[in-house]
Amino acid sequence: MYFDDREHDSAVSVKVSRPTRINGAPYAPPGVGLSRTCRRVDAMGQFLVSRSKPPPWSAAVPLAVSAVVVALQSWPADARAETHEVTQFTVPSGTPDENMQAAGKFAHELDPNVEISYWDSQTGALSVSRVDAAGTRCILRLSPTTREALKPLGRFLDGRLEARAQAMFAVAHEVGHCKMRDAFLSRPDGRAADTSVFPWLAQEAAADVYGILSTERALGEQVPVRQAVIVSRMLTASMYGDYVHATGHYVSEALELCRRNRSDADAVKCAITTAYFTVGSLVNDEQGAAYAVDSAPQMFYELGRHHIEEKMRVYDDIAQYKAHFSGADLSRFAFNEVSHSGDSRYITVATHQQADTTYRLADFYGFKTGEVATDDERNVTVLRIDGDDELDWLLTLGAVVHTEAGESLRKGDAER
Ligand SMILES: [Zn+2]
Repeated sequence: MYFDDREHDSAVSVKVSRPTRINGAPYAPPGVGLSRTCRRVDAMGQFLVSRSKPPPWSAAVPLAVSAVVVALQSWPADARAETHEVTQFTVPSGTPDENMQAAGKFAHELDPNVEISYWDSQTGALSVSRVDAAGTRCILRLSPTTREALKPLGRFLDGRLEARAQAMFAVAHEVGHCKMRDAFLSRPDGRAADTSVFPWLAQEAAADVYGILSTERALGEQVPVRQAVIVSRMLTASMYGDYVHATGHYVSEALELCRRNRSDADAVKCAITTAYFTVGSLVNDEQGAAYAVDSAPQMFYELGRHHIEEKMRVYDDIAQYKAHFSGADLSRFAFNEVSHSGDSRYITVATHQQADTTYRLADFYGFKTGEVATDDERNVTVLRIDGDDELDWLLTLGAVVHTEAGESLRKGDAER
């Protein structure tokens, strides 16, 4: 979704009349934009981790990812050898405020198997889907407070939508990402495809539509969810130059293709329709606008559908997909194994800068972190990767891990 952990510039006031471009360049407030690292983080918050259950990442293999974070920093990972744990290894947890609790409950209504955890260290929200023997599983990470979870979209939703409805929308948006991924991975014909072929803007528009329709079904259509979201997306896009989340126009048009919202299945169907519609609109622009902008939305939908069908790789089944798919989220990082003991590997993120990004990265994707003491008596923050499934998850996220023995583990090596 769309929130992320950018600092808010509270001094910037909102004016609907603000030009979206200045001298042809996207307008963005100082400090916003260029310094951001790649981000597909939605912004809503963190998850609900049910601490009484084993963490979801203990037993599964991953899939698609909607997020990437990272302010990179570094760590000279030359620690080696005789290591032992000096702290507990944990995954993040936080306590949600009332609205986020309600939103978490709502997420469970939309997807009874959703795993949620609330994450204190960053603002925003994200979802990932993992595939295991039982199918795909939706994992959400949400900031525990509504205000943090909805940054930066919340500032534009305020006054248009009550805080609880905002939180519900944000969480439903994340569930929407999962539902769309699942719809393609668990096709009725038993085959599997990955939605990463859709441009991110199309995925965002789809998730927005699912979030809007789900929230409207829960609260009633008299609550102005769609108007608030559409306008707020337009405002954030122009205010921050954030075109990846500039879904307002597409959502507004695509909703005309979806007359029915009686069930979750209707919302999923509409989300997918929206994704195709958005792709068709983008393709039409690239082709010099063969269709006029006021053409029937159905034409853009058909164009998008055709375009995606040509590009999308369809796997025979989910097992084949799992064996072959890996993303690129973590491919920019170097991972070094500090130590390997039994089933557990202790891994750091190495970069050439000063600070250690291991914790933030792990936090983001739900790996357990803690400290180990090395033989040269330094304490090092590491991820602990327990077992082959978890290693496969890390590698599926695109990581390459350099082991103590000098091997490079990459996707494929962890398969049994
Ligand atoms: Zn999103």
